[in-house]
Parts: sequence; C-alpha cells; structure tokens
Amino acid sequence: MDPVTSALVRLLGRHAADPPQGRVADYIPELAVANAEAFAMSMVSVHGHVYEAGDVEQSFTIQSVSKPFVYALVLADLGLDEVSRHIGFEPSGEPFNAISLEPGTGRPANALINAGAIVATSLIAGTPEESFTRIREGLSAFAGRTLEVDEQVYLSEAETGDRNRALGYLTLSQGVLGRSAQEATDIYFRQCALRVTATDVAIMAATLANMGVNPVTRKPVVDEAAVRTTLSVMATCGMYDNSGEWMVRVGLPAKSGVGGGIAAVLPGELGLGVFSPPLDARGNSVRGMAALQETSERLGLHMFTPPGVHRSPVSASSVEEDRLILALRGELDFVAAEGIGRHLQEMAATFPLTAVDLDVTDVTVVRPIAAELLQATGRDLLARGIRLIPSDREKVPEAEGSRDGDSSKD
Ligand code: GLN
Repeated sequence: MDPVTSALVRLLGRHAADPPQGRVADYIPELAVANAEAFAMSMVSVHGHVYEAGDVEQSFTIQSVSKPFVYALVLADLGLDEVSRHIGFEPSGEPFNAISLEPGTGRPANALINAGAIVATSLIAGTPEESFTRIREGLSAFAGRTLEVDEQVYLSEAETGDRNRALGYLTLSQGVLGRSAQEATDIYFRQCALRVTATDVAIMAATLANMGVNPVTRKPVVDEAAVRTTLSVMATCGMYDNSGEWMVRVGLPAKSGVGGGIAAVLPGELGLGVFSPPLDARGNSVRGMAALQETSERLGLHMFTPPGVHRSPVSASSVEEDRLILALRGELDFVAAEGIGRHLQEMAATFPLTAVDLDVTDVTVVRPIAAELLQATGRDLLARGIRLIPSDREKVPEAEGSRDGDSSKD
C-alpha cells in the first residue's frame, strides 16, 4: 500500500473506533435505511491520482453535495451577471432549509441553502426532462462516470418534500424562480437522489480544484470563472450555520449532504470525498467532518497556510547506472511529498535501481507529514532492494532499518 493510502486508512481507523455520534437522516424516510457504520474517504490530486480508504464501493445519494456542482453548471451556462439576479452570495448563518430571502430583491441568500439551490436548478434551461438530463450529464462529467438516480429515495423525498415545495412557491412569488415550483422541485429531488461513492465525490471536488477540468478523464466540465464563484460560495456558505467555524478549523471550501457525504476542495491541489451517514443537528456528517478536520490538520491542507513558494519540489532528476540522483528544493509539504513519492515509484518501476541519492541541500522547510511520507516511501523502496539516501539526515530522516545496513557499508 502506498504511504498516502496507508495514512488515510490509519486515519479512518482512528475515527471508526470513536463511539458513534449523530443520527442518520430520516426526514426523507428512505434515507433512514442507510448503513450507519459505513465510512469511506477518497483523495484525488489535480494530477488525477486517486487514493481510497474504507467503504469506497458503497454508494449513497448525493443530496446537497449536488448543490455547488449544479450552481457551477448554471454559472457556466448563464454567466455570473444573470445568475446573480436570482441568487445572492451571503452566508445565511441559518439551517439548510431556512427561508433566507433577501429583503428587497427576494433572492435566496446563497446557492447552497435549499432555497438558492432550488432556484439554481430552476435556471437550467429546457423542458424538465432536458433540464434534468443536463444536470445528470453535468454531474456525471464532474465524477467521470455516468451517475444514476435512486428512484426509491427520489420518490420518498418527492412524497414528503412539502417544505422544499414551499420554498419553490416562495421564490416563485419573489420572481426569482426560473420555472414552475412543481417542476423546479421535482428536478431538484431527482438531482439530490443521484447515487455516488466517496471516490465520485472526491473526483468531483478535484475537478473544482483543477479549475473545471476533470483530472481523471482530462475533460473540461465548466469554465474557470464558474469554478471561482462556486469555490467562493462553498468557502463562505458550504457548511450552513457551521461555515465560519469550518473555515477556521478545516480551511477547505466544502459541501455536505444529508446522505452523509462531504466534498472538500484544496484549490489547485486536490479534492476530498468522505462518507459516513450519521449527522449532527445541522445535517452534517459527524465522522466525515472529524475525518476531514484531522486530514487537514495532519496533512497541512488549510487554505490559509499556503506553501511559501509554488513550484515543483524536484529541481533535478537523473539516472546514472543503477542510481537515481534526485535534487529537491523549497518547502516540502504534503503535496510536495506526495508528488515526490509518486515520481520515485515511477522511476523504481522504470529503471533497475539499487539506490536513490536525495539531494536536500536546497530544501528550506520539511513539514513533519512530508518527512513521514518520505520515510514511508523509503521503506517501500527498501523492500524492493532500493536504498533512499538523503544528503542531510537531520532534514529528511532515512527510512528505519536502512541505517544499520548503511553504517557497515560506509
Ligand atoms: N434533498 C435534501 C433536501 O432538500 C438535501 C438537503 C441536504 O442534503 N442538506 O432537504
């Protein structure tokens, strides 16, 4: 197992061991049947590398995690000026199903509470069928595979969704809804009932991280301006009335759903998807939030601790006979170490190496997580008969077990 995957597996294990908290959503009756124990996390880099841990094969309904992606589609279709006539940008500080309409304009506060999401859905053009097809194909393009509707969950929500229909009629009465309330909410219920896995959500998030190009399929989904607006609204409103504290503690634009999923984005770097059905009183996955918070802390992913210098950590790489000479520079954080780890694995698979000389002279800072990942990569390589030898063991420790062998040879 590669070091990033094993870090994710260990992290999930720690949180799975905590006593279960929260309650599986039951206000949509069909959601109550979800497996409360299911727990998964996936991470996808903008290079399209997928790391998975836990129950990644288990699918669940996307629910509100669909909102930022549909918002991005409508922004891409209509542009910011037109969309902003219908939906605002302010955190409501209120629960997801609140009646947050701006006095004067009648616009819902933002696109990530239900009122704003229903309006966003209503703005996708065409007959109801065409509009839903655009949404399903758009979300499928974000995920890189065809997503299907869970008919049971759709029917269950359609039967019980009077509050959402009320929000539809209210926004219609304010003149901001794009079609009839009945049609808009019906399309919205279908959109919420699309089934995804944690990996789908992570790829969708990584497409936002990669400024609208799916990093796995390499296909463009939405333009950069749509992504920028979507990420801004996710950063300020994505976790409803918990959005401020989320930004402080986790520091990643995110969106939760009552199916137990959460998407989180580190712009320019990676997307994360987590899944665990039990929710807190605000409708956010309890374990999902805890796992994302720890991931952000341990891997140093908070948006407002950006790396000092943005450039490749590899300044030179050459092979001489059975040795790889790799020179690194700048700050080694999680993202840098993940890239270096993959480069080393690729080189080890391509050349018959026995050693890697890691020149760390120009490395300025080594984050603990980067040192840990490089050591784990060192252990992996050692198992394949390749020694990873840092030029300065104070900066980057050598993998355990290799030093003894080393001193006898030196
Ligand atoms: N379909 C759900 C609703 O509209 C989505 C809510 C959510 O996931 N927060 O009530």
